[in-house]
Amino acid sequence: MKLIYRKTLIDSLPERWFDTYLRRDDAPYYARAKVKYDALMALPRPLSAEAVDALVARTGWTDLKCDECLRDDCEVVVELGEEPEHDTRTVWLCLDCTTNALALMTATG
Ligand SMILES: [Zn+2]
Repeated sequence: MKLIYRKTLIDSLPERWFDTYLRRDDAPYYARAKVKYDALMALPRPLSAEAVDALVARTGWTDLKCDECLRDDCEVVVELGEEPEHDTRTVWLCLDCTTNALALMTATG
């Protein structure tokens, strides 16, 4: 169980972009991805979601989504379950849904 902050996703975007697209310099998309990576590295700090989203021209890189209510603009979620990888059981819950879950679990009937 750990907390994940949207700010961390935003700040780590250049590193995640590198890991996703620039690990292999013989990939056909390498040159185009490198141009975007260089532009990401040139952005003023602290990075903003708007700036990095506009640059990568693809949504989802900075979205922090709750798996219960499906809000995708959470500032923080709690990660429950296995470390996320392909085919793992991992859930992200926002504060409201975590509060609701606690209330449900502690309710006396
Ligand atoms: Zn939620």
